[in-house]
Amino acid sequence: MLNPQPSTTRLLMSGNEALVAGARDAGVAVAAAYPGTPSTEIVELLSRCDTVRAEWSVNEKVALEVALGASLVGRRALAAMKHVGLNVAADTLMSAALTGVNGGLVIAVADDVGYSSSQNEQDSRYWGRFAHMPVLEPRDPQEAYEMAREAFALSEQFEMPVLLRLTTRVCHVKRVVRLQPALAAPQPRPYVKDPTRWVLSPGNVGKRLQVRTERETALRELAERSPWNVIEHGSDRRLGVVASGPAALAAREALPDAPMLVLGLGTPLPVDLARRFCTGVDQVLVVEESEPLVEGELRAAGLAVHGRAWLPPHGEINAAHVAHAAQGILAGDGAAPTPAPVPERRPVFARPPTLCAGCGYLGVYFWLSRLPKAIVCGDIGCYTLGSSPSWNALDTVFAMGASLGTAGGVAKAQIGQADAQPVLAVIGDSTFLHSGMSGLVNLTYHRANVTVLLLDNRATAMTGGQENPATGRTMGGEASSMRVDFPKLVESLGVRPERIRVADPYELPTFLKVLREEMKADEPSVVITTRPCVFAPDFERTPALVVDEDQCNGCTNCLDVGCPALLVTRREQRTRASGTTVDLAWVKIDPTVCTGCEICARACARGAISVPPAKRVIPMVEAVQ
Ligand code: SF4
Ligand code: SF4
Repeated sequence: MLNPQPSTTRLLMSGNEALVAGARDAGVAVAAAYPGTPSTEIVELLSRCDTVRAEWSVNEKVALEVALGASLVGRRALAAMKHVGLNVAADTLMSAALTGVNGGLVIAVADDVGYSSSQNEQDSRYWGRFAHMPVLEPRDPQEAYEMAREAFALSEQFEMPVLLRLTTRVCHVKRVVRLQPALAAPQPRPYVKDPTRWVLSPGNVGKRLQVRTERETALRELAERSPWNVIEHGSDRRLGVVASGPAALAAREALPDAPMLVLGLGTPLPVDLARRFCTGVDQVLVVEESEPLVEGELRAAGLAVHGRAWLPPHGEINAAHVAHAAQGILAGDGAAPTPAPVPERRPVFARPPTLCAGCGYLGVYFWLSRLPKAIVCGDIGCYTLGSSPSWNALDTVFAMGASLGTAGGVAKAQIGQADAQPVLAVIGDSTFLHSGMSGLVNLTYHRANVTVLLLDNRATAMTGGQENPATGRTMGGEASSMRVDFPKLVESLGVRPERIRVADPYELPTFLKVLREEMKADEPSVVITTRPCVFAPDFERTPALVVDEDQCNGCTNCLDVGCPALLVTRREQRTRASGTTVDLAWVKIDPTVCTGCEICARACARGAISVPPAKRVIPMVEAVQ
């Protein structure tokens, strides 16, 4: 699917794949991203196109700046990110919307509607309104393909970045997509040095604001006649629907005969078109994910519409929700709107996410879970799972890189308090490079009493093990000319060498010793862990361990490690002589899952867990004795 299509082709594709095909057809030359579900595959796939120079940037702001730089010199460029990533990129975004672009610049942003893999739910269309940029909103992979093909030309026509807004459903759902022959390769647009445009000093801003206002007027006119804004006529005119994105498909499923205004280019909003549509129906329901944005703007334009009051306040909108809303509106009994219930989780056996067997974080959380008095500020990554059972070891997780700043605030608030609690921050390698470094500088600058656990697992693991500057490889696995040396980096950020410790989280007793020593220090300290992600190329799997049933007394210590390879074979409750009851559990190890890391063996005081004798490698010297 990544080679140019010689003629019309039909392929089963996800929205992300289709978007990539459309961008490739349009001649995108540079692509940059920071991985984040559900957008990760976009630039990953673009990197496989011979004609595209792609990279994992250290964060979304830098990714947008890379794409902006390529656009500046006249190439078509794409930056991809998830919704929270656009917050990180927002500073550059607002300026890029003001300077405008040269080569077509498309920002593919994937909103995790339904928050399946995110710390919140956001509606990125607001960024389009805020920055006065056009926003394209595909309903499905076919439209993702077509919009991506056209978005670059639109960007060049108006010299504005174009936001291509997807949701999780569009990103990952698959349908047959009709691909067209690739467009003629675009000629790079010449770069003309013009500081009055590209340098946003206050003296130049006024002129750019004027240009932006004129462009927005032209964009509004375009939206009024855009083929992406379609009125679908219907026979039942009692209730018309204004909808966008996959919510429009849900509305069509619920109301097959309803007239519908589908907004594929809803930013800026084609108010006159909407007004014409509304006059042709008795009542109007606005169906959109995830905020009532269009609904509010239609009301502001004086149009009486129904909307969010009848629909779930968050999460995906499905056909049942729309049917509920239509039923209530058409009943016309004056009853107050009742929102459709929030989508319910299906009643399946609970399978909470967990860390992998052999993950170095198991050793870290084994000890953090035993520090009830400490305040532990977590961050975004696999290690966010430390907030879950069996560890329950994290107090906070806010945003990428937020652990260090937050921990600094907790420490500052406790200065001089007799009952001050120890403060720790937990952050992974990729997140530290993304936006954690400035937090560490702040800690050292203010000599905050915080112990930072920098978990270097040599991967951006949570999104699938992408490369980053700490892996020593670039996108596609090619060796980079550098690899971040974390001890040197944190020293350069102000941590005293004595307070920089490198520790192996598999070695439970020595790891605890290091942790205790650094928590006693009255200044910022950093403990860097060394074990690679079990999916990293340099992870070494060793033979699975076994439990000696005769030695095991069911104490459950090993279960506190939280390794999914440890299985409970029997539980029992016993009453001690003192009258207290204890819960006991006997265990075995799943040899197909165990990586042989030996963390559980170190947690077992009875020595009941060991390498199976049959698999033990007997040293030559020992063998001949
Ligand atoms: S820690 Fe050792 S004794 Fe306790 S349950 Fe696990 S294997 Fe058995
Ligand atoms: S050795 Fe123990 S902790 Fe490590 S993977 Fe195997 S069962 Fe899990």
